[in-house]
Amino acid sequence: MRAGTVTDGTRTVVAFHDGDRWFPAEPQPRSFIDVLGADARAGEPLANGHRPAVPFRPARNIMCLGKNFRAHAVEFAAYRSETEAVPESPIVFTKAPEALCGAEDPIEVRRDVASSLDYEVELGVVIGCDGSRIGADAALDHVAGYTVVNDVTARDAQERHRQWFLGKSLPRATPIGPVVVTPDELGDLDRLAITCHVNGELRQSAVLGDMIFGVAETIEIVSALVPLRRGDIISMGTPSGVGIGFTPPRFLADGDTVVCAIEGIGELRNVVRIVP
Ligand code: MG
Repeated sequence: MRAGTVTDGTRTVVAFHDGDRWFPAEPQPRSFIDVLGADARAGEPLANGHRPAVPFRPARNIMCLGKNFRAHAVEFAAYRSETEAVPESPIVFTKAPEALCGAEDPIEVRRDVASSLDYEVELGVVIGCDGSRIGADAALDHVAGYTVVNDVTARDAQERHRQWFLGKSLPRATPIGPVVVTPDELGDLDRLAITCHVNGELRQSAVLGDMIFGVAETIEIVSALVPLRRGDIISMGTPSGVGIGFTPPRFLADGDTVVCAIEGIGELRNVVRIVP
């Protein structure tokens, strides 16, 4: 099942995605997660002109993993002149729900905070049921679906404030979607390609099997300390090839088009808008 939230500018509905068409869920669910895995019915296809909005906004902070691909950990450490590149335990930080924007929305950022804007394509894991101290063997039972996240980052703020929350939470600058796909539809995650293009140029490319900490292991480690709640999102960290990894860095600029994709899920296609 592939479900998202779409809008035509006046009305926003939860809808299933099939082929290139959207079919509204009937009846509309009280919360987005309700349609995943349920025997929800689909109505007549929506008219053209609907575009994906944020599938749902988590009630709590979004959890994100830092440096969860080996090659990215090395490139990031090189930038910071660190000796220890690959983490022994997941680095976990949070992102504000207000940071999310839709799969085709502009990434609109004020000029005064946009001098080192960077892209990070990531797998988003949507938690479907509560749990604490979840064992790795049961962890995937807690996953409602998967989506694509572009963990857009203000690198200077990330560096300046030491803790990553501020630099990772610019309002409406973290694209997510276009759909949440249930696990049964994706099968083995490890073989799925994850890519990011900027203005058509391939910058990030890996398979999900390259992640240092996989989904089940991450759920076990996180839930040993903090209970996971239905509707939480864990963004699994990014492959190498981010802007800060280049010499000199190649940050995002006004008018750039960023396309983040995961095979079997879909793509985020967002234009960067630097505003006064
Ligand atoms: Mg990230």
